[in-house]
Amino acid sequence: MLPLTIVPEIEKLLKNHCQQEALIDETIAVGGGSINSAYRLSYAGKSFFLKYNDASRFPQMFEKEALGLKVLTESKSLRIPQIIGHGGNGQTSFLLLEFINQGQPNKQFWEDFGRGLASLHRNAQTSFGLDHSNYIGSLKQDNTVEKSWTDFFTYQRLQPQLKLAKEHALLSTKTLADFEKLYRLLPSLFPEEAPALLHGDLWSGNFLCSQSGEAVLIDPAVYYGHREMDIGMSKLFGGFHPHFYDAYNEAWPMENGWQQRVDLCNLYPLLVHVNLFGGAYARQLEACLGKYVR
Ligand code: ADP
Repeated sequence: MLPLTIVPEIEKLLKNHCQQEALIDETIAVGGGSINSAYRLSYAGKSFFLKYNDASRFPQMFEKEALGLKVLTESKSLRIPQIIGHGGNGQTSFLLLEFINQGQPNKQFWEDFGRGLASLHRNAQTSFGLDHSNYIGSLKQDNTVEKSWTDFFTYQRLQPQLKLAKEHALLSTKTLADFEKLYRLLPSLFPEEAPALLHGDLWSGNFLCSQSGEAVLIDPAVYYGHREMDIGMSKLFGGFHPHFYDAYNEAWPMENGWQQRVDLCNLYPLLVHVNLFGGAYARQLEACLGKYVR
């Protein structure tokens, strides 16, 4: 059941979008999300995707998500669901998008996706970060700009998550000390690259395959960063199809040794997972860290 208080605002947005007065005549719950409640809505014979949450728990989450989707859309590299609108009443916030009917990924899908991601990453700027903060999952992500990637990775990515993990006693003192050692090694570990526009949270739950076989990006945590961050994240839970990496590398070859840096990049999403889910992820984090710090 949708919270009734947001229905009039949603119907107003749909009326403007469809240029047709109607009522939401069907709502079907969509599973698979980790944070928000999600629905497929039917209005004037068309389908739309709605997600909503408690506004006080995640302030401005959907405003930031819409901003991220807009930045990605403007890059004209991969398909992004059209944003119909976002809003709320102070208690409940919502985001309303085009509904993507799903198909089956084939070889062409993975190749186009790999090439499309390389084209997204071609969007560069002069510093690492973004002009606004956003979220990674349900955690705040600060994007204060830095001139060097290793400074950005240290100060805006690893340290804020480590601070949170320390406050909740989720990591051992050895792990915390190992991160201090890692900071000094980072400049020799990462090859220098221009700040690239990233999806920022590119695991397998954050893209869809449309019915016509296009990759559609959802749920971004956009910023300008080292492009290996998206590649690393894609490998965090098993990895995408090899055709994806082949096509990416053909479009824009990655620097030598990128496979050895996957776990380095994934220290950030693993820290996020430690903070969100604790336990098992701390072991995985320590194993990855141990590959770079002894
Ligand atoms: P959360 O923010 O809670 O993680 P998601 O954005 O991942 O939620 O979406 C929840 C579910 O809805 C996922 O299974 C996802 O595949 C699906 N989904 C997300 N966006 C769309 C869309 N525009 N059209 C159709 N399904 C979508």
